[in-house]
Amino acid sequence: MKVLLKERKSSVLSPSTLKCLNGTPTINPTAGCAHLCSYCYARGYSNYPGDGTIVLYANLVEKLESELNRKRKTPGFVYFSPSCDAFQPVKQVLDTTYSLMALLLEKGIGVSFLTKGRIPDRFIALFKLHSNNVNAHVGITTLNRQLQKQIEPHAATPGIRLKNIRALTQIGILPEIRFDPLMPGLTDSTGNLGSLLKILGRSGIKRVGLNYLFLRPIINKNIREGLRHTKAMEKISQAFCDNVDLQLLASKSRVKALNLDFRQKQYKYISLLAKQYGIKTYVCGYKNPDIAEDLTCNSIWQKYFDKKTLQYQLFSNQHSEITISQPSNHD
Ligand code: SF4
Repeated sequence: MKVLLKERKSSVLSPSTLKCLNGTPTINPTAGCAHLCSYCYARGYSNYPGDGTIVLYANLVEKLESELNRKRKTPGFVYFSPSCDAFQPVKQVLDTTYSLMALLLEKGIGVSFLTKGRIPDRFIALFKLHSNNVNAHVGITTLNRQLQKQIEPHAATPGIRLKNIRALTQIGILPEIRFDPLMPGLTDSTGNLGSLLKILGRSGIKRVGLNYLFLRPIINKNIREGLRHTKAMEKISQAFCDNVDLQLLASKSRVKALNLDFRQKQYKYISLLAKQYGIKTYVCGYKNPDIAEDLTCNSIWQKYFDKKTLQYQLFSNQHSEITISQPSNHD
């Protein structure tokens, strides 16, 4: 992986074009992403540096600090990262991400992220200190390493993602899971999802977000490339024979989606399957505006941070009361 260092000219915190992140500042530490997922829409962005290259913004940490110092009102939380993964397996990227997250958390600003990467121990130690201010989402759609490698060649293995989930849970951060994107005829089988849900249920997971694959020309090309030696492409093509043209809830985002009837039936089926393992599901409203009316993410995250802060304050108050009422050895 070639890493190009570049100075960031524009603001580090940028508003998202995704309506579900309405008003939430976001940070992209890199342009391009080392994970090279076949379904990644960011690979079609105008600033995408090409496969095998990532652009790391070298001045992000100082720039973020000065931006925050100039703000009259600091954000409640910041989302990492709409166009790249914060935990790419590249030391320089991880170092930058760590400094950015530490800076935000030390200022009392919440950090929200979605990852398919390995979360290193130093991040877990950092999150442990600020667990009331961390909202984690882990993307995973299969426990089958071979299958995962075909669709997300450089992302963390399913085993490592389960390890992430355990490590986060152990420090009091219950991650939300994303089955996104589900690939028709490939990762949406009862066998595949049943074994994944079983292990997630045992790990204490309570909520899973669902979304099916959609196609844009670049995604179509990359999926064909990634799955060219398998029969999977045939199944995906068949499922997309009866596709619909869908406007996502982001500016100028039209995609080819699986037809409404298929998605409705499948989401219902997966929801019933998940229920057997004590897990609730929800459908991503930004990517399925014809199904889900609510754009849940932003309000869920806002509630998450509000609730955590309240719990933290209650705990702190209780803690100080207990401390005060304890007779001191020095009295
Ligand atoms: S991890 Fe996310 S940003 Fe990175 S390649 Fe995969 S889908 Fe794209």
